[in-house]
Amino acid sequence: MGSPVCGFLKQNNIIFLRFFAILVLSCIPDRTNLCSNPSFDTPTSPPHSSSSSIPSSLKTLTLDGYFSFENLKHAAKDFGNICHYLPIAVLHPKSVSDISSTIKHILYTSSVTKLTVAARGRGHSLQGQAQAYQGVVINMESLDRPSMYIENGEVPYVDVSGGELWINILHETLKYGLSPKSWTDYLHLTVGGTLSNAGISGQAFRHGPQINNVYQLEVVTGRGEVVTCSDKENADLFYGVLGGLGQFGIITRARISLGPAEKMVKWIRVLYSEFSTFSNDQEHLISSNNSFDYIEGFVMINRTGLLNNWRSSFNPKDPIQASQFSSDGKILYCLEMVKYFNPEKIDVLNQDIEKLLSELNYIPSTLFLSEVSYVEFLDRVHLSEIKLRSKGLREVPHPWLNLLIPKSRIFDFAEGVFGNIVKDNNNGPILIYPVNKAKWNNRTSMVTPEEDIIYLVAFLSSALPGTDGLEHIMTQNQHILDFCAKAQLGAKQYLPHYHTQDEWRAHFGTQWETFVQRKSAYDPLAILAPGQRIFQKAISIT
Ligand code: FAD
Repeated sequence: MGSPVCGFLKQNNIIFLRFFAILVLSCIPDRTNLCSNPSFDTPTSPPHSSSSSIPSSLKTLTLDGYFSFENLKHAAKDFGNICHYLPIAVLHPKSVSDISSTIKHILYTSSVTKLTVAARGRGHSLQGQAQAYQGVVINMESLDRPSMYIENGEVPYVDVSGGELWINILHETLKYGLSPKSWTDYLHLTVGGTLSNAGISGQAFRHGPQINNVYQLEVVTGRGEVVTCSDKENADLFYGVLGGLGQFGIITRARISLGPAEKMVKWIRVLYSEFSTFSNDQEHLISSNNSFDYIEGFVMINRTGLLNNWRSSFNPKDPIQASQFSSDGKILYCLEMVKYFNPEKIDVLNQDIEKLLSELNYIPSTLFLSEVSYVEFLDRVHLSEIKLRSKGLREVPHPWLNLLIPKSRIFDFAEGVFGNIVKDNNNGPILIYPVNKAKWNNRTSMVTPEEDIIYLVAFLSSALPGTDGLEHIMTQNQHILDFCAKAQLGAKQYLPHYHTQDEWRAHFGTQWETFVQRKSAYDPLAILAPGQRIFQKAISIT
């Protein structure tokens, strides 16, 4: 706290806040269409006035870790593989104080530079959200923390680094017969990365998203201060950071709620040809007592031979009937359900499942079952990743579009989009499943439609060689967004990406003012997460 920067911030706190609240608001970028075309465009305005002196100024910092100034291309790449912004340096922090010192140094030099800072988890963002054009990228995975601490008492939890991967948390907590309750479909993502968004998967209907399963955070704010926060302590920062798109602070530690873990899962898929029957059954299941532990679903448009593909991992309940099933070219909807179990209790499990299935209205010949370990199920997407990598097909552009649609308009959405705007799903899966918003804490920064039940619809497209191509998929995504806007569906983007102040304001709706206030309180110079393109860095006048 004795640094000149902190002294300056403390003394001038009120003037500073007022001044930068105005500055931050006025500096939101105009419509620049950054990253929206595939030609790897680069911002034209210079990022700071004395770029050549920046690396040497950063070199003066005393750190436990280190900076790299060369071979930084990996930090200008993400899973989306559409935006590529080269930073000026990558920090490999070994301690929280490395992150805090770097941010304070950038604040201290901000009268002469526009340097910004992006925390990078695994870089699984889609549109450069974890990049910083000519700024500093912090490689969160290198943050050295004491090994995970697991509290195995009445209210179990695990303390983990913000750069920790969920897959490692799974393996470690299972040693105690515990695991986190709410997941993402893919576990090779970092805690800081998913908590900055939400972390939604098939368990969210019961437990809420991952951001609702956190007891405490340690955060380095955009002022360089290290703050512990929770529902009881610094609650505004705590809820701001959860779902806050990295805007208010860098998560260096998280305390994540745990529950008892089972050993195995029963994994079930059934098909529907009517959307309304499918969605009614999904909604019935997410509201039932003693329901499944995971409920998702996906759409199949113009897919042939799909049931044959499943045969390697799923068994049809009735092989003869299943072999005679034909979709007749119709759009099919697959309901996917999982129940966790311990093998000693298989009889009870089978009874429970039979009862739940008897309440559903799927096409009887399309009941498919599988039994795998809990870890195999949770880590399922990693298997496809390995396969894609081996074929050289993972490093392609991924123009994903994720939407949250209110239940009252999901039928309109399905009718307008599936088979009309989207005529096949050869470019990748389309997920669709409802969640109960009653389980979600509305104090976080995450924005959702205003209804008790909302659907996540995820168009997980890959621009593979020989398919429609990136431009086609992006145009289709835009058509979907235009349709939602025109039909006034009240949809919200998840993992949002916008170009203009008006779009961000509309996205946040009534939460916009709080979001801006939090920005001026915790990151008044708008140093953090520039890749989200919500605020632009302000220059301090010292
Ligand atoms: P990054 O992409 O590195 O960062 C994401 C954002 O968070 C950036 O703005 C970054 O600056 C910021 N950030 C990173 N670390 C920190 C930190 N420690 N503190 C503060 N800010 C930070 N999401 C779901 O909700 N459900 C899913 O089922 C799901 N499945 C996915 C499957 C795949 C194959 C992929 C690629 C992504 C999936 N996602 C899913 C999206 C995922 O949640 C986001 O990509 C998220 O960004 C996590 O990725 P990351 O850890 O690599 O973070």
